[in-house]
Parts: sequence; structure tokens; C-alpha cells
Amino acid sequence: MVYSLEQIESAMTARDIEAYRAAQIFQWIWQKNIRNFSLMTNISKILKKALAEEFDINGLVIEKILKTKDGVQKFLFKTEDNQYIETVSIPEQKRRTICVSTQVGCPLNCRFCATGLMEFKRNLKAYEIADQISLVQQSIGSKITNVVFMGMGEPLLNLEQVIKALDIISSPIGLSISQRHMTISTVGIIKGINELLESTLKVKLAISLNFADQQLRQKMIPAARDNPLTELVSAAREYSLKKSMVTFEYVLIDRINDRLEDAERLLNLVKGIPSKINLITYNPYPRLPYKKPSPAKVKLFHNFLLRSNHTITLRKSRGSRIRAGCGQLAT
Ligand code: SF4
Repeated sequence: MVYSLEQIESAMTARDIEAYRAAQIFQWIWQKNIRNFSLMTNISKILKKALAEEFDINGLVIEKILKTKDGVQKFLFKTEDNQYIETVSIPEQKRRTICVSTQVGCPLNCRFCATGLMEFKRNLKAYEIADQISLVQQSIGSKITNVVFMGMGEPLLNLEQVIKALDIISSPIGLSISQRHMTISTVGIIKGINELLESTLKVKLAISLNFADQQLRQKMIPAARDNPLTELVSAAREYSLKKSMVTFEYVLIDRINDRLEDAERLLNLVKGIPSKINLITYNPYPRLPYKKPSPAKVKLFHNFLLRSNHTITLRKSRGSRIRAGCGQLAT
């Protein structure tokens, strides 16, 4: 396993080793991606040997990489206990965004999501979340600028480890990515949103709203039963006012939530909340019965929303050919 700064510091203290060594080792692991004590040149031979005998600093292993012509890459990682997770790297003009997984599988079983078809195995540890970024950076040879916790799993059901991962990712001697460039994407776990609100974290929040009607929403997202729309929307309002502007993700699924009355309901629901609506066309998956709406239907829906005062974006779906699109990750 790969260690956090806190873990390395307490291991050093327990062994009467100077505390500053912890920062050096942390820097080697996370900033330079060195996973072999013998290569850490500013550490004495004796200490290197002692550390190597006691600690294993291996993490995830890349099993497979799939690429699209426009540069999207999907990584299949194997964990030390032989579980598999997926991560997607998306190049944009000046940005390199990575979509990281936080769980092996997902316990929430949203009806339209491929990850929901997988058996839920376990939460990922903080180092496994951060390691996805470290290994992708090394593989693509450029720095990741933006992180979205939106791969496999629901990040707010593994918040303790996500927060620890954020420490590694944002540390100036770690992966050094600003929290303002990180987004936690949730299907709408209100308890988790409240915990974020109470924390000092500066991450952005995206809510996969997808259905503006409570009955339909809880049919498609079983977790919505315990996280009703009215309460979810008021937690989102608070986040926008206290932290940063929330993004509502809305995945358009053919004949399910793509009518103009759905668009109207959506606008009414988010009215008055400083927020952005991000429309995404559904990415079909072979074992699921749902389809993407026609471009004409998407245009109608989009145009209807554009008549409001809200900021609306229509996200181009990239990576669906290699099943790297939203909701398609399933190992
Ligand atoms: S949409 Fe998100 S929360 Fe729902 S099953 Fe898929 S990964 Fe889990």
C-alpha cells in the first residue's frame, strides 16, 4: 500500500526517525511517483534498507489502456487484492481532466448505469483513489489539471477516504492539484453534501439530478427514496451560497426524461439557485434497455432550457466508443 503523509509521519515518529524524512518520502512517492526506496537519493542507505524491509509502497497496477482518436483514454487498474476499477482521462484544450473511481462497483444500482450492474465489492482506500491520478499522469506524460470524482462508485458513500485522498492530491508536496479544480459528483446523498458543507474543503459539487420528478427519480435512482428532491435541492442551494456554484447534471434518456415538460419541471426545480445545468446525452450500454434521444430531441430540450436565465451547457459525449462515457464504467 502507498501511504499518506500522516501515516508516514507516525511511522517515522514510532521509529525515532527525524520527522522531516516523512515529507521527503511522501514527496518521492507522490510527486516523483517513485515506488522503490532504493531510488530515493536523499535518504541514507541504512534508512532505505530499514524502510524497504518494513513497508511495501506498491499501489495500483495498470492492466489495460483503451484510447479514442480524440485522445480520451480509459485505464483498467488492478488493486492489490485483485479487484478492478476504471479511470478515464479526457484531454481538452489546456486542460487534462481525470474521472476517478471511489468504489469497486457501486451499491446504489441506478437503473441506467453500467456500474450499478456490477456487484459492489468495497470502498477504495485514499491511496487507491490518488494513485489513479499518479499513474495516469505518468502514463500520458502530462500533468492532470482537473479531477472529477465521478468514475465508478458514489464518492459521498466513501467520504472519509475521499477526504484523505484530497489531502494527497492537493498537497504541494503531493500531486499538487488545487481543490478548486476538483469536483465531487454525487447522485444526491444529502448527508454527504451536509458533511461537505460543514468541512473546510473547497471542492466543487456536481449533482446528477437526471429526473426532476420525485416518483420517476426514485424509480430510476433507488437511493432517491431516502434523498428526496425537495431536500436535495435545498442542500444544493446552501452549497451554492456558502461554497461554490453547484452544477446539476441532467442525462437525457430517450422517452424517459427528454420531453419539454421534463425541461420545464427541471427549470422550476432549480429556479433561484445559483447553479449551472449540464446536459449530457445518455451513453447506451448493451445490458441496459435505455437509448440516447435523437439529436433533434436533444436540440429541442436544450433550446427550451436556453430560454431561461440559467447557465446551460450541452456536454459533448466523448469516449463512448470505448465505453468510457458517463455511466458506462463497468470492468
Ligand atoms: S450512477 Fe453513480 S451512484 Fe448510480 S449506480 Fe452508477 S456509479 Fe453508482
